Amino acid sequence: MPSLRRAAKGAQPPQLPSPNRRQWFRRRLLEWYRRNGRDLPWRNTGDPYHILVSEVMLQQTQVDRVLPKYAEWLAKYPSLAALADAPVDDVTQTWRPLGYNIRPRRLHAIARESVERYGGELPSDEATLLSFKGIGEYTAGAVLSFAFGQRKAILDTNVARVLFRIFIGVGDPKSHGMKRHLWEVSRTVLPRRHVFDFNQALMDFGATHCSARKPKCGTCPMRASCASYPFEAATE
Ligand code: SF4
Repeated sequence: MPSLRRAAKGAQPPQLPSPNRRQWFRRRLLEWYRRNGRDLPWRNTGDPYHILVSEVMLQQTQVDRVLPKYAEWLAKYPSLAALADAPVDDVTQTWRPLGYNIRPRRLHAIARESVERYGGELPSDEATLLSFKGIGEYTAGAVLSFAFGQRKAILDTNVARVLFRIFIGVGDPKSHGMKRHLWEVSRTVLPRRHVFDFNQALMDFGATHCSARKPKCGTCPMRASCASYPFEAATE
């Protein structure tokens, strides 16, 4: 099996997936998602603020811990204006026990900026979204594809792991160069239609099927063409 430590000196940079492999991957992933996708509340909304809250909460926290906090947060701060109005201490208190207290402060700062500059809305333009402190490339891609229906790629930890294992398999998945390459892979495999489902499927597949420690290679729909099959977690 391919070892992730086998990054050969002088190796060629990884290739992007061919058109055939892209098609194969999209079809398999969407089929898997139709059977196994989770019904999560942020998948039933197009509200950019709700999507933003879910994405920031999910950055460092498992779904089952996010679910009750997401409901509590939106009941208490139903809009960016309501969040901007709240004292920052109240906001960090509400966030507990999720941890990483920088996250509620960032959300609060984004809310204030949106009220001051954009009438309490999140802009649908990528460059403007990225100008907010606390909105990086991943969060912008998630808000634009999930809330505004734009054809934008995403790359969080789960997605990076899936794309690395299936399309690359060797090298250092955490290196800066590899991260840039994986962004390119994510853009390349993105279909023209069903972007919402495809991006949600990528995240779900990484969280529940091709997980960090116990990927389910034996029952995996990707195994016939996965560069890491059968994956052994000890080698990562
Ligand atoms: S075969 Fe294993 S490593 Fe490859 S995508 Fe499936 S679960 Fe992940």
